[in-house]
Amino acid sequence: MKRIFFTSVMLLLFALPVFTQVQLPAKEPFVAKKWQEFTQKLLSDLEKGTEYEKLASEVKIEITNEDTLDANSDSSLKTIQIDKGRIGLVTNMAQYVAIVAHEFGHIALDFPLAETYIPATGDSGVPDVSTDYDLLRKNEKAADEFVVEVMERNHYDICDQYEGFEKLLEAKGVLSKKEIGPKNKILWERLLIMNDRCSRKLMFGKSTQN
Ligand SMILES: [Zn+2]
Repeated sequence: MKRIFFTSVMLLLFALPVFTQVQLPAKEPFVAKKWQEFTQKLLSDLEKGTEYEKLASEVKIEITNEDTLDANSDSSLKTIQIDKGRIGLVTNMAQYVAIVAHEFGHIALDFPLAETYIPATGDSGVPDVSTDYDLLRKNEKAADEFVVEVMERNHYDICDQYEGFEKLLEAKGVLSKKEIGPKNKILWERLLIMNDRCSRKLMFGKSTQN
């Protein structure tokens, strides 16, 4: 009897932190509204007490029912859009935090857009996209660094930024491509920086160099 009591107390003690930790909503069945509300609150919690607290509360979260793997933000409209497909790749809370913080980083830092649409010249009617790759690289790297600050401040493992991003690039087929265009080069570079930060954290207990 004593033993049973002891075991139950120990089980309860170990289970407590699990219950108090924030959990991701269910993926099956996927309810976009649930994810939208969850993400809205998550973003507010992540930025509580920071200079971006007000901005975070103004951002509108949109969760799509699309199987595509995108997450986007629009700083002028203050919106973050995340696809169901992108959420499908997420396996833990920290990976999701990295996605939300990256998109919010674009809004908070408010850099000029690297991609501009130019009217179609051909008969197709489809506008062309002109990309400033230097600016794109700068924007993405700055948003990734923003993620590191958010994750460390909120006690998430920054290695999940790397793991989640690797999963995305794998799913998008970027990692298996032999031809590396300028866009993929930037994706690869970001992945390597995240990997380096994670290794540094594992080796020295912190992600940044002094
Ligand atoms: Zn981005």
